[in-house]
Amino acid sequence: MTCPPFEESVAARTRHMRERLARAAGAVGRHVRVMEVCGTHTHAIGRGGLRAMLPGNVELVSGPGCPVCVTSQRDIERMLVLARHPGLTVCTFGDMIRVPGITSSLERERSAGADIRVVYSPVEALALAEREPEREVAFLAVGFETTSPGVASVLLQAHGRAVANLSVYASHKLIVPAMHAVLDGGSRIDGFVTPGHVSVVIGPEAYEALSTQYSIPCVATGFEPIDVLEGIGMLLECMAEGRTGSFVQYTRAVKPGGNRRAWDTLLRAFEVADAEWRGLGAIPSSGLRLKPELRHFDAVARYAVPDIEPVDLPGCRCGDVLKGLIHPPECPLFRTACTPRNPIGPCMVSSEGSCAARYRYG
Ligand code: SF4
Repeated sequence: MTCPPFEESVAARTRHMRERLARAAGAVGRHVRVMEVCGTHTHAIGRGGLRAMLPGNVELVSGPGCPVCVTSQRDIERMLVLARHPGLTVCTFGDMIRVPGITSSLERERSAGADIRVVYSPVEALALAEREPEREVAFLAVGFETTSPGVASVLLQAHGRAVANLSVYASHKLIVPAMHAVLDGGSRIDGFVTPGHVSVVIGPEAYEALSTQYSIPCVATGFEPIDVLEGIGMLLECMAEGRTGSFVQYTRAVKPGGNRRAWDTLLRAFEVADAEWRGLGAIPSSGLRLKPELRHFDAVARYAVPDIEPVDLPGCRCGDVLKGLIHPPECPLFRTACTPRNPIGPCMVSSEGSCAARYRYG
């Protein structure tokens, strides 16, 4: 038997999926709101034109899954203070560079002479610190359970090799507490498309308690448009049958129990702590802080970064977008004052931001 050409097989799968979606949505028989928690899903939905393929009673809502977007304004302002520290080299992921502060950004600080370097991995920051021991290096650590094990591994290596000139600004987040906060904050969500890559680490069981508490199905979903369609279809079928629970569409990567090794590495370097999120405010047990034995890597303490009262970016409604209360075009600044060339808020900057996705794909 010969396989059909790839495009043909994708087209056939898409057609089949749309029929399945239409059947399930018809069986649900009411308007439903499905939240894609992850920014990568948001862009897959835009890139694949998935909104146009969905039955009319299915509304897709973006959630708090873009790591740059959820970083609080307080943390952004404090990172800018850190970047101005004389003689310090700051390493950051590229998405952070253009995130606006109230009066500046990392990009502007770099133009003004700060030594700010874009890296693709914290390993590069460690390598720089070891290559040039006279240089002080600070890494801006943002991200979810996908990136934090890598940062933990780097810190453990640096600790083992007594690297004294490396530090981190630790602003990692945990996704499940944020999903609770979205539901507690008044956003009506009927089902979650949960992030495939985070689910690889934490395992599908991590969503069970939330699913039970709110009677909402969750489906850990891959990142191709066809994956997302199937994840939504599985959610609709659960709703139609009145089933809740945590399910897996992304079976090629998400396994029961998650990745214990990654999680254990994470917990050797960090402990769970309260964290502040853009839009969602302070959420108990939703972040990570350095364990006591690694606190000497804390950039905030090492460089005496002062606390800063958070100030909202004028007119920006990223917080409401991240809570699923509005869609990006409902922000009055969308496409007018706020564009990817002139972003007012982080959701228009980041490659995972929902405003950027809506601007780009419509
Ligand atoms: S369109 Fe711009 S100003 Fe409005 S919520 Fe999005 S990022 Fe913020």
